Formats: sequence, C-alpha cells, structure tokens
Amino acid sequence: MLTVYAAISMKKPSHPFGELGLIEQIRRDFATSSSAVKLGIGDDCAILRPPPGCEVLVTTDFTLEGRHFRRDSHPPESVGHRCLARGLSDLAAMGATPIAAFLSLALPSTMLAESAGRTWTKSFFNGLRALAELHSVPLAGGDTSESPGGRSALILADIVLIGSAPKGKALRRSGASPGDALYVTGQLGGAAAELATMLKRRRRTPNNKAAKTTEDHPHMFPEPRLDVGEALQRRGLATACLDISDGLSTDLAHLCRASGVNAEIEQEALPIHPFAGKLDAPAALHAALHGGEDYELLFAAPSSVRLPSSLAGVPLTRIGTLKARRAGHPLMTLLAPDGSHTELKPGGWEHFSKPVRTPKKPPR
Ligand code: ADP
Ligand code: MG
Repeated sequence: MLTVYAAISMKKPSHPFGELGLIEQIRRDFATSSSAVKLGIGDDCAILRPPPGCEVLVTTDFTLEGRHFRRDSHPPESVGHRCLARGLSDLAAMGATPIAAFLSLALPSTMLAESAGRTWTKSFFNGLRALAELHSVPLAGGDTSESPGGRSALILADIVLIGSAPKGKALRRSGASPGDALYVTGQLGGAAAELATMLKRRRRTPNNKAAKTTEDHPHMFPEPRLDVGEALQRRGLATACLDISDGLSTDLAHLCRASGVNAEIEQEALPIHPFAGKLDAPAALHAALHGGEDYELLFAAPSSVRLPSSLAGVPLTRIGTLKARRAGHPLMTLLAPDGSHTELKPGGWEHFSKPVRTPKKPPR
C-alpha cells in the first residue's frame, strides 16, 4: 500500500534487499499449487475458492516485538513459527481447515539493509514456511512496510488466516450444556515454564534444528491442533471448543460465559507438561491453570459420549465437568485432591489489564 508520508515510502525500483526484493523472495519461496488459491501473491488482491458447501472463517493475530517475543531471547524461526501457529490454532479451535494465510509485516530498515538483519528475516520466514508446509497452508498475500523509529524500530507482524468448515458445523464457544464433560488436548503449563527458562538466560536461546515439537519446545514451537479440531468437527463430538492461548482459566471463563454454564475443574486430573512438572507444586499448578500460550484445545462433550484417549495422535484428558448456572456460585471452581472447592478466577493473559507504569521522570 502506498503511504501518504513523504517520499521515503514511495515505491522505489526493485532492489534485492528492498521491499520489492523481499516480496519477490516471499513469492518464490511460498509458491503454491493449492486449488483453493486461484490467484496468490502478485496482484492487488488474492482470489480464493472456498470448497463448495462450506462457510469461510477468518481470524487475525498480532505478533509484536516486546509483547509476544523478544529479539534477544527468541530464535527468529520460533517467531515465524509462532506467528502462523497463533492463527492456525484459532482455525483449529473452530474445527476449520486452512485455505490461505496473509502476512502484514513491518520491519526496521536494518532487517533488510544489514547482514544480521537479513539473516533474521530469512530465518523468520524459514520458521513460518516450515509450519505452513506441514499443514499445507499457502501464503497468498500480505503487506510489507518499514517500521518507523530507526535503530529502535520494532518488528510487527499481523497474520490473517482464512479457513473453511462445512455450513453450520464450525465449533463455537457457546454450545455447551450443564453436565457436559470438559477435555483438553496435550499438556498444560509447558509454554509458561519454557518461557520462564528462556527469559532467565542472558543470551538468545539457540535454535535447535532437530527438535521443533510441542513436547520439546512448548513455547517456541507449539503445534496447532488442526487435526484434532477437524476430527471433533467432522465427528460431531464437541458441543463447544476454543483454544487456550490466553491460559486455561481465562479461556474457560469465555466458554462458561458464552455457553451460560459454570465449570468445575479437578486439580488432580490436569495433565501437567514435564517442563512445568519440574517446578514446585504451586508453581506447576499456576503454570497449568494460568500460564497461557499452550495452544491446546479446550472442549466440552456430552458425558454420555465415550471419547478415545487420543485423537489424531494427541492425548485427550478429561479435566472437569460443566454445571448449571446458580446465583451466588462462582463461574469456575477448582476441586482440590482433599475434596475442598475454591473459586477459580481467570488469571491468564489479558491486554490492558495491568496498570500503566508512570515513568519517574515524565518525558518532555
Ligand atoms: P499493493 O501496493 O497493491 O498493496 P504490494 O506491493 O503491497 O501491493 O504487494 C504486492 C503483492 O505482494 C500483493 O499480492 C501482496 O499481497 C503481496 N505481499 C506483500 N507483502 C507481503 C508479505 N509480507 N507476505 C506475503 N505477501 C505479500
Ligand atoms: Mg500492499
């Protein structure tokens, strides 16, 4: 898009390390033969062909430097992987099949002008592409811009995912009923535990090429549960579903409010990721309940339905039960091993929920 701000943002002739050079590189690296993309990168719009009988689902997610990642602690492959994983996880949560991704990217000028920056950019796209190929998701367009701020400019990415689901079949947060059982996929608390370890290190975590699985790197390389979401949707197993990217407690509250139910979580049933299991017991429980960024699915299913112990190769764990709304009763409760109940409050991630820190010396 042509920006109004002066000549610096006017289109320049193609340069191998400029905007047009980068877009050309992306176009080559992400060439697709997907039948759902009639026209991809290269024109003003992409043209998509959703499968007949399907509805189109759209989700968009920011990846902001300093908010979702740190350049000094996250390998660029992980930043690219997580950028796409965030959008794919939203599609998974609704039982949708990806059609295409769109990436709007603002980069500091150093990311194209300097060799270290170019390496970062290349690795970012390698991480994004590896996950895109794994799930056959074409990158069908986007926007590329230089972020303002010179040497202190930030990397900002916004990913849009387009998916499809058979008409009326997409999974929502709002369909659960009292008596339904609650399940999660995979394990909880691993992402928070890995992030804490990464931030304690002084240097950027090296990119271990051999291990890019949720088991080994729950924070750096989370695996969006697309196959589980699609299976739940196709087999009509779930009454409600969402992903728990903001933390189990926060996302469960969304399900409860949308479905008009209360929930009881059994502490002993929570599948704690081995990374969180290394913490002391209260910290492990906190990571599992409130940690966030596990990118697992939380779903409800009627108690009468016998669910397999795993779906699409991913373990399913029953972690609690939904109850009828009752005046004066908390939305969510935690059942401890000794049989006592305590209120479970949403303690995961919520933007704008923290007070703004006032600098000691106000800027002039
Ligand atoms: P316009 O100025 O018409 O918006 P651009 O020069 O921004 O066109 O983009 C040219 C083509 O490259 C478009 O098809 C656009 O979708 C694609 N594109 C631009 N940036 C990206 C990106 N970061 N990732 C993927 N495709 C991109
Ligand atoms: Mg554009």
